[in-house]
Amino acid sequence: MMARLIIALLAVILSSSLALAKPDVTDVRIGVHPDKTRFVLELTEEPAYRAFTLPDPFRVVIDLPALEWRLGSRRVVEGGGLVQALRYGLFAPGTSRVVLDVGEPVDFDKVFTLPPENGYGYRLVIDLKPISREAYFARARTPLVSSIPLPRAQQAALPVAPPKPQGDTRPVIIIDAGHGGVDPGAIGQTGIYEKDLVLSYAKELKRLIEAEGRYRVLMTRESDVFIRLRDRVRYAQDSDAGLFVSLHANTHRKHELRGAAIYTLSETASDAEAAALAAKENKADAIAGIDLSDQPEVVSKILIDLAQRETMNQSKRFANLLVKQLHTVGPVLRNTHRSAGFAVLKSPTVPSVLVEVGYLSNKVEEKLLRSEDYRRKISGAIVKAIDGYFEWQRTAGPS
Ligand SMILES: [Zn+2]
Repeated sequence: MMARLIIALLAVILSSSLALAKPDVTDVRIGVHPDKTRFVLELTEEPAYRAFTLPDPFRVVIDLPALEWRLGSRRVVEGGGLVQALRYGLFAPGTSRVVLDVGEPVDFDKVFTLPPENGYGYRLVIDLKPISREAYFARARTPLVSSIPLPRAQQAALPVAPPKPQGDTRPVIIIDAGHGGVDPGAIGQTGIYEKDLVLSYAKELKRLIEAEGRYRVLMTRESDVFIRLRDRVRYAQDSDAGLFVSLHANTHRKHELRGAAIYTLSETASDAEAAALAAKENKADAIAGIDLSDQPEVVSKILIDLAQRETMNQSKRFANLLVKQLHTVGPVLRNTHRSAGFAVLKSPTVPSVLVEVGYLSNKVEEKLLRSEDYRRKISGAIVKAIDGYFEWQRTAGPS
């Protein structure tokens, strides 16, 4: 009886540790040939894969089991040939994804795996060739799958609103760390990813708000996982949140630009820069290789309904309070409160703001943003604005 129990326990321990041992990616290479572009992923195990293409913008998506990326300092891999840029990371629990941005329609020439030889590990080789737009849309685009089964394709991670604790009347605040998983967001001067930086800010902000005990805090993500924009919005709606704060960091080709800024939703952008930023941030789902053809409105235009007007006024109120606080902390962008059609701020009932904590393209600011001290200061400023906002809600607010 005892022996059987021990064996059963051992089996559980063994299978869970096996499940944790992920194949390593040890190298990523792009080879440019006259007639094709070759993409090679080198791994410690023979990979299961599923590869497919997506149109407008043209992308190649490769789904693999959860992988450990051991690329060392070569974390950012340069494109080449037909591949303009590439991203990789966790897409959904158990699924890693590689997305290749191709500037034109492409087709698979060959997709195959090679066993270890001559000092190389297992390799997944994908040959891409250009194809005309007409031919691309004329042919069937069925995914290419490996003979080894890939774990069933799971939905991108979906945060589920927890039930409200009985008798807890505190306002709910949603902290939304931008990007994640296969979508790194902006990349800084030293190679830091926006997704990692803003997650550290989100965790610090959560810690500070919870220390006050006046609000219930929920996060759209607490790890490096991809979450669709609309799922972030839905999470705030389902949680009956009183406030949604999305954290981001920016980059700009003018490297001297620096300072924090707050964005709220509007149909017409406050300026061209805000419009460009919203367009960039709204691309998150496309960046992660999600087929948007069934819902063009997600990326193309933001329709604002009547119910949203009051929510937008409340968002503006919070933004104004936060501008004042940020001025006491560090550099802020001129016209610190800006507005544009951000998809993640589109909740009709939850006041929502997007905070760009600063510019990763500015060397001085990047260093500042990475410091614990500055993270604490920015988070502290947001907490003060939150207190001010709910104080206003209680005394002069609309409801
Ligand atoms: Zn961002």
